[in-house]
Amino acid sequence: MPDCIFCQIIERKTPSKIVFEDEQVMAIEDINPQAPVHLLIVPKKHIASLDDATPQEQTLLGHLLLVSKNIARERKIHTSGYRLLTNHGRGAGQSVFHIHFHLLGGRPMHWPPG
Ligand code: AMP
Ligand code: ZN
Repeated sequence: MPDCIFCQIIERKTPSKIVFEDEQVMAIEDINPQAPVHLLIVPKKHIASLDDATPQEQTLLGHLLLVSKNIARERKIHTSGYRLLTNHGRGAGQSVFHIHFHLLGGRPMHWPPG
């Protein structure tokens, strides 16, 4: 997807702080962090949002969750607590239409989210 910022980052056409990468996913620092730890876990495959995922993506999405968990442990936020979330649609605050999960931690997380 040429107009997609995350596809550009994955293809190394746009710089980003990459903290993890394997064949299927990439994790980057959010450019506008909302917590001391704010990473984006992004599949390399362009899927616009969770609503566009199909059963074909089951393994990929499971892998993405386990990668997120591993990164949370590496950052040592698994004991203090962290939040892993995806926004679907503009009404929920989605601004980049390439599915990604926010991994937020390093400060108290309030509920309900705004
Ligand atoms: P969302 O609003 O849920 O779609 O999340 C998109 C996130 O991507 C926001 O938290 C932005 O700060 C972040 N973002 C946008 N552009 C970049 C970029 N070039 N590098 C890193 N993070 C970005
Ligand atoms: Zn994309």
